[in-house]
Amino acid sequence: MAKIRVMDDLLANKIAAGEVVERPASVVKELVENALDAGATEIEIELVQGGLELIRVADNGSGIDSEDVPVAFERHATSKIMEDKDLFKISTLGFRGEALPSIAAVSRVEMKTRTENETAGSFIRIEGGRIQEIGVTAANKGTDIFVRDLFFNTPARLKYLKSIQTELGHATDYIERMALARPDVAFRLTHNSRILVQTAGDGKLPHAVTAVYGRETVKQMVDVEWENYDYRITGLAGYPELNRANRNHCTFLVNGRYVKSFQLFNAVQAAYHTRLPIHRYPVCVLHLQLDPTLVDVNVHPTKLEVRFSEEKDVYAAVQSAVQSALERSTFIPKALPRT
Ligand code: ADP
Ligand code: MG
Repeated sequence: MAKIRVMDDLLANKIAAGEVVERPASVVKELVENALDAGATEIEIELVQGGLELIRVADNGSGIDSEDVPVAFERHATSKIMEDKDLFKISTLGFRGEALPSIAAVSRVEMKTRTENETAGSFIRIEGGRIQEIGVTAANKGTDIFVRDLFFNTPARLKYLKSIQTELGHATDYIERMALARPDVAFRLTHNSRILVQTAGDGKLPHAVTAVYGRETVKQMVDVEWENYDYRITGLAGYPELNRANRNHCTFLVNGRYVKSFQLFNAVQAAYHTRLPIHRYPVCVLHLQLDPTLVDVNVHPTKLEVRFSEEKDVYAAVQSAVQSALERSTFIPKALPRT
């Protein structure tokens, strides 16, 4: 008798969730990316108990057509790529069609959404991957999604979560990076009703940096503005005097996507060269724009890594960009105390 069978969707989604949804911050990331892909200019993120009790993301983006609402929660359902050639020029943050089904497989989800052309909004409620309710509702244009009781049906995952403070820290860090990535979008993050991050969305990077790092920090940063044939690098880099004790204070955006990259960080450090005291690290926000065919974002489901096809060129470009910004600067450092 045959023993190999294709697993049912519910099980497949739960397994996929193991990769996509590691902790509350991963849910925040996926939902915020969806909001950005939908063209939202205002995104509100509400967390209760570090996101363990509730993660809510409300946006004023395109919304989802009522007929698409249940489809959005199906595995590999996406409006973002249609054929394999699209994979080599991805311009959206999402493309796998895995986030919503994965999140819904391991939590209780409610979503309200409405597109511009609809008079009534749609409503859907899903628990542990099973649709409980679909209907119509009054709704603003955009999408408002509630994720409750994350991992309620995967006890092993639940146990693995850290304290509320730690989980909140991960989510906050992500929202701060996105606020720096998208100064044109107004973000608001609240935790247990307290505002933690709030940006104006006026498109000005210094304003976003002020919201995240404070006014004093932004005063000690210079503009980075550099381009050659393949790369354009813009942003802000701190004067050497504005140094930090760890490497977490540089944010890299590659074609609008927040990435973590040792390589980019090393290039920045190389630009500072001996300007920084030993064991001290720079502060920066750098946007790197390049032809999408020169960068592969399809490396890992959580997509914080990228692969450049011309690694050495990217390194050299980033180093030059920061170096020339530092050399141009006319900052005369006050004798700042070393902390
Ligand atoms: P992906 O983002 O990879 O396409 P998701 O599972 O995250 O996959 O979402 C599935 C689809 O649902 C998206 O392609 C999009 O069409 C729709 N969608 C999800 N969230 C939103 C949102 N906030 N606003 C508008 N459409 C959305
Ligand atoms: Mg998505």
